[in-house]
Amino acid sequence: MDSIRIELSDLKEGVNRFVFRVGPEEIDLEEEGTFFPKPVDLAIEIARTGGTLRVRGTIRTEAERTCGRCLAVFREVLDATLDEALKVEVDKVRIFDTDYEGDPGFLPGPPGAFFLDELAREEILVTSPMQPLCRPDCRGLCPVCGADRNQGDCGCRIEEGHPAWDALRNLSRNLGKKD
Ligand SMILES: [Zn+2]
Ligand SMILES: [Zn+2]
Repeated sequence: MDSIRIELSDLKEGVNRFVFRVGPEEIDLEEEGTFFPKPVDLAIEIARTGGTLRVRGTIRTEAERTCGRCLAVFREVLDATLDEALKVEVDKVRIFDTDYEGDPGFLPGPPGAFFLDELAREEILVTSPMQPLCRPDCRGLCPVCGADRNQGDCGCRIEEGHPAWDALRNLSRNLGKKD
């Protein structure tokens, strides 16, 4: 479902500003192992110079994930930015001069309008870390007793090279895996 819709007839020469709030499901925002509990807020500025559109914006939402080390569920704010150059061709717009990794063709939309859903979704997903951590220095679970080592020292003695370390490493690798 498309919902971040811009009408070409609304774009005057110079800077045009828009704000949108859409549900994550409305822009098909999905990621394995992640829940998006909040709406997606966008503030978009489109500078029009003849047939050229410079689209800049900020995108904010929240993600709920599971820490790859201690398995705690945590939320984090995601801030993404949008910066694309578009070219108007009759009643459609084409992406050009861009690092956009999707199909660099026309943006979807009916004649005279275009949708920014796909661009917004890509930018949000790009901000997602490969291995989510509840905090950068998360100490993870003890491989011997399973205690959350962020809560304090469980007292287990772990030797380097202990097979339990390999098990833990494999566990966190699997948890952090993305498709
Ligand atoms: Zn953690
Ligand atoms: Zn322990």
